[in-house]
Amino acid sequence: MSRAVITGGAGFLGSHLCERLLREGHEVVCVDNLLTGNRENVAHLLGRSDFEFLQHDVTTPFEVPGEVAYVLHFASPASPIDYLELPIQTLKVGSLGTHNALGLARAKGARFLLASTSEVYGDPKEHPQKESYWGNVNPVGPRGVYDEAKRFAEAMAMAYHRYHGLEVRIVRIFNTYGPRMRLRDGRVVPAFIQQALRGEPLTVFGQGTQTRSFCYVDDLVEGIYRLLLSDVALPVNIGNPHEMTILQFAETIRRIVDRLESPGGAGSTRRSSPIVFKPLPEDDPQTRQPDITLARTLLGWEPKVSLDDGIERTIGFFRQALAAAPAGGGSRLQAADASANSF
Ligand code: NAD
Ligand code: UDP
Repeated sequence: MSRAVITGGAGFLGSHLCERLLREGHEVVCVDNLLTGNRENVAHLLGRSDFEFLQHDVTTPFEVPGEVAYVLHFASPASPIDYLELPIQTLKVGSLGTHNALGLARAKGARFLLASTSEVYGDPKEHPQKESYWGNVNPVGPRGVYDEAKRFAEAMAMAYHRYHGLEVRIVRIFNTYGPRMRLRDGRVVPAFIQQALRGEPLTVFGQGTQTRSFCYVDDLVEGIYRLLLSDVALPVNIGNPHEMTILQFAETIRRIVDRLESPGGAGSTRRSSPIVFKPLPEDDPQTRQPDITLARTLLGWEPKVSLDDGIERTIGFFRQALAAAPAGGGSRLQAADASANSF
């Protein structure tokens, strides 16, 4: 049985990866400081003998006793609101955290997989984005803390590969959604679903003409697992090429929520959410669509879950999360450890 360390394992994607690796017969060590993650995401795994949770900030060096075959580095604030609120932690986890995770992989002779992002392409001038595109990033803009941290992390991973011969995999993840996203993480999927379920206005930023392509979490995890087991050392895009404008996305969410929440049709007193327009955040990318030719040809992967299916599954999760949410909203960041916020 091989052992995998997943940094950021108590987050949205990390917790789904923990489950998948356990299902494939690996032991899992989840390392997370709960800065934007939540112990609840892995609570159902805590009693298992093949699962371990270490609460630790990976920007300081860490050791994991015993053999390790894989290190998957997912720790990082990921939503634009989170990394704007946590700019220095974001830069530190992308740089120092990546260095520490690479050091662990090297010490253990493990394969290293980096969670990179479509943000390395910035506001892209090439469309759709191929892995060969170098990107158009504003290093000193507000999103620079995330984009440049991830670009540094990719460069660091490739340096360990070239200089130390470390086995490295880099996944460039495009917008992914699904159960266990934080209700208030500010990303468009939880924002719109929450607003639609409450009958509040859907807040479209700008004119809503900017595009995104949304991938359901199960599809993403399948792609990541295939990449982990592959021999591909260069970055690979994993995402769903089904591109739409944010205005179309708002209309889609409203349509699905209206269908699910007003099954009776005529007699229903429920009001459908209006759409309102708010200012576009600085440097918000205008287009984003992955070219997944590499994933198709090298990994035999492509997404399978339709947007309607994925959104329905996600609405089920948010309905429960909203019912359990504290009145008045509570703290937006669920940092369990106040010291995690110090820099
Ligand atoms: P998330 O916020 O749910 O998960 C991130 C996890 O990292 C959290 O559990 C958080 O507590 C942990 N973390 C942050 N800083 C840490 C530190 N210093 N030490 C230990 N743990 C730390 O976000 P997510 O959407 O699950 O994203 C996971 C990874 O995938 C991130 O690296 C993100 O950049 C990348 N990614 C995600 C998407 C997406 O659409 N979800 C897209 C591109 C890239
Ligand atoms: N967005 C929006 N309303 C919201 C939240 C986000 O219109 O309440 C837009 C945002 O400006 C961006 C897109 O939705 O154009 C996706 O935003 P998200 O924060 O999910 O991720 P990004 O792709 O920008 O990293």
